[in-house]
Amino acid sequence: MCMNFSSKLLENAVNEFGKLPGVGQKTALRLVLHLLKQTKEETFSFTNSIDQMKEHIKHCKVCFNISDLEICEICASPQRDRSIICVVEDTRDVMAIENTEQFKGLYHVLGGLISPMDGIGPADLTIESLVQRLDGADVNEVIIALSATMEGDTTIFYLYRKLKDFPIHISTIARGIAFGGELEYVDELTLGRSIMTRVPYEHKIG
Ligand SMILES: [Zn+2]
Repeated sequence: MCMNFSSKLLENAVNEFGKLPGVGQKTALRLVLHLLKQTKEETFSFTNSIDQMKEHIKHCKVCFNISDLEICEICASPQRDRSIICVVEDTRDVMAIENTEQFKGLYHVLGGLISPMDGIGPADLTIESLVQRLDGADVNEVIIALSATMEGDTTIFYLYRKLKDFPIHISTIARGIAFGGELEYVDELTLGRSIMTRVPYEHKIG
């Protein structure tokens, strides 16, 4: 849609908002006009939160979850079961699983899924770090909790090949419940149950 702006500054702001996922030009204009009506303090608080986040946010050195600290609260907690690692795509999955309060182990955040179509290969993810993490650690089980998509399946199979020689159980969360969907959208009860009823991963040939 082509909009005729009365101000270049307004147009620039609308274009920036329009780059956000799910935000069209109309919504972008509405948001920008809303911000324009706010006090300077309110707008500062808004832009400052984004600046601060970009400036200071970290990825946990152990699990790669988004964190304010070098080591995230989950990895640092003495309450967590260090013998189980749940492998997920991103921080939204950690949040979804944490909300179920069913899982007391640790996480490993891959930072995406293998997707040749999008040019994302294993080296773009934190898979090598997971392998290093398992080396010599007291881990009994790795639960792979990735979305039931083609990219998810490709990534599971790749992970399985990387991990199969470690003396650990490899399990996946029950599929079907999240079929074609993404992990974050599965309701918490179902997700919690699927973690409790996870199944050993077996590679089926053909
Ligand atoms: Zn961590």
